[in-house]
Amino acid sequence: MAKAEREINAKPRKRSVYESVKLQFEKAADLMNFDPNIRKILSQTQNEIIVHFPVKMDNGKIEMFTGYRVQHNNVLGPYKGGLRFHPDVDIDEVRALATWMTWKSAIADIPFGGAKGGIQIDPSKYSIAELERISRRFAFALGNNIGPEYDIPAPDVNTNAQIMAWILDTYLSMVPANERQRCIHVVTGKPIESGGSLGREKATGQGVVYCIEEWAKDKNFDLSKATYIVQGFGNVGSWAAKLLKPKGSKLIAVHDVTGAIMNENGIDPDDLAAYVKKNGGVKGYHNSKPIDFETFIAMNADIFIPAALENQITDETAPLLNVKLVAEGANGPTTPEGDIILNKRGIDFIPDILCNAGGVIVSYFEWLQNKRSEYWELEEVDCKLRKKIVPAYKKVRDTAREFNTDWRTAAYIVALRRLEKVYQERGIFP
Ligand code: GLU
Repeated sequence: MAKAEREINAKPRKRSVYESVKLQFEKAADLMNFDPNIRKILSQTQNEIIVHFPVKMDNGKIEMFTGYRVQHNNVLGPYKGGLRFHPDVDIDEVRALATWMTWKSAIADIPFGGAKGGIQIDPSKYSIAELERISRRFAFALGNNIGPEYDIPAPDVNTNAQIMAWILDTYLSMVPANERQRCIHVVTGKPIESGGSLGREKATGQGVVYCIEEWAKDKNFDLSKATYIVQGFGNVGSWAAKLLKPKGSKLIAVHDVTGAIMNENGIDPDDLAAYVKKNGGVKGYHNSKPIDFETFIAMNADIFIPAALENQITDETAPLLNVKLVAEGANGPTTPEGDIILNKRGIDFIPDILCNAGGVIVSYFEWLQNKRSEYWELEEVDCKLRKKIVPAYKKVRDTAREFNTDWRTAAYIVALRRLEKVYQERGIFP
């Protein structure tokens, strides 16, 4: 057994998210006999930017904030990845998320590298005006560490199109007047009117559903009879749930930061999404009964879509799952120990770096439209997304068979093969 696999199989212990990413990487690299020199390069991030900046609060006082941008790799193209506003954001988490972005773009076969950023805040504690000043000061502090051909942020947990519009506007204010029109692709996930793409808002959820459809085809599984449970009802969770509804599948339980609810007769995802928008979470939703987390995680359903944060499927929770498929809408929802249990129990999973790649794929389409001054129809965006994510799905599935390994390791192998080829072709400077 190779070193990484031994480490995962050893007694479960608490490890940081970045340590988990490295273990996943090493496991795949061992299995495929990855070039040891390129392995050294990819096991580290390239640039790590930490900025501390002041923002005036509504009460006139100044508060200091800390923001991060980690750029893992750009051999395939400009650094790319979201910005997250969450109390758990720290350098370790951002390193992990940036690294996942490199693998994600490589699997999706789009010309981007990997990056991620964020601010350690609880955005619900700030007014809209304060959030605008925080976002703008963060963009100003990042300065030319981001750029339309260099590093392109996008929405992530607790950030959205409005925040992208503020970042865009701030960035444009810093470039010479005669270059501004050439820079609107400095962020993706923008509002449509400000240069965003149709289909970008739902893209991650749409990609999750395209992957689930492929899985169902492979397994001869009838989605019109499926039940599913969702963790997190933000952008990804709510869109995945809404897009599964027309397939005839039934949402029977949801868990988010406010609590968990269930209704075995089905919860309407559109109605729940409207409720969550108004009330900030699923708690108290009519037409359902409240349940605790233990009941939620052990629900008997066909599909589980984790669409919240990291470390949800662990050595403690994986044994409780009662589903056939885990479709990872979130980044890093499963720990290496959780993976072992899923594999042992024969629970299928579509790994995050494939399953949630729809977001960055449509970000790429938005970036292309901006560069060409084009606007694509929604049908065109959806069709192009499917044409990217379905072959990626098939490649991961076939690689899992080729190496007789689990799908996460297979997804890494697909990404690493592409990166290895490019490094071998170009060599290392000087
Ligand atoms: N934040 C999303 C992700 O984790 C999207 C990134 C992007 O569009 O750049 O994949």
